[in-house]
Amino acid sequence: MSHAQVHVVAHPLVQHKLTLMREKARSTNSFRRLLHEISMLMAYEVTRDMPTQLITIETPLETMQAPMIDGKKTVFVVIMRAGDGFLDGMLEVVPGARVGHVGLYRDPKTLVAVEYYFKMPQDMHERDAIVLDPMLATGNSAVAAVERLKETQPKSIRFVSLLAAPEGLKNFHAHHPDVPVYTAAIDRQLNEHGYIVPGLGDAGDRIFGTK
Ligand code: URA
Repeated sequence: MSHAQVHVVAHPLVQHKLTLMREKARSTNSFRRLLHEISMLMAYEVTRDMPTQLITIETPLETMQAPMIDGKKTVFVVIMRAGDGFLDGMLEVVPGARVGHVGLYRDPKTLVAVEYYFKMPQDMHERDAIVLDPMLATGNSAVAAVERLKETQPKSIRFVSLLAAPEGLKNFHAHHPDVPVYTAAIDRQLNEHGYIVPGLGDAGDRIFGTK
């Protein structure tokens, strides 16, 4: 099995927008817009080594062989519900991608992930999966979602989060050392309620304005 990898997207634009998102006074509207912008920038990083194929095109001057990506071979796998906030920006840069959904809720007592929804496109063995969840906290949801996703045998799997806790990364890679994680920051720790600190609070509530 290949080595566990964590890619911290240290680009100043990502870091600047993340700082704005962490501020507690930020409005839902602004939080959502920033997440949209960051997700486009993170899509750029996570697709960096996406395969291209040469196709023949006509420029105004001559015929040439030029690279194209086959976006349809990519599937964004949204972990509901906060993962939804990541999706639009990703689709803006890879518009042909397919989308799968995994519904998990965190049992508030045990913090264990329980599945309530799972829907993927067909022919997953032909597709590269990019799993989206802004918060890699305990890692339990991520572990469960990727475990379930592996049953569909996608060609490859990557995991994208906005923030990760060291505990979550450790848990995730103990179960899935073959899945690289892309994140904008690794925060200090989890608190006793399973929240990332300093963090940005409850990502779902902040995206959807539910609190
Ligand atoms: N989920 C969130 O939305 N925030 C956290 O800090 C941890 C899990």
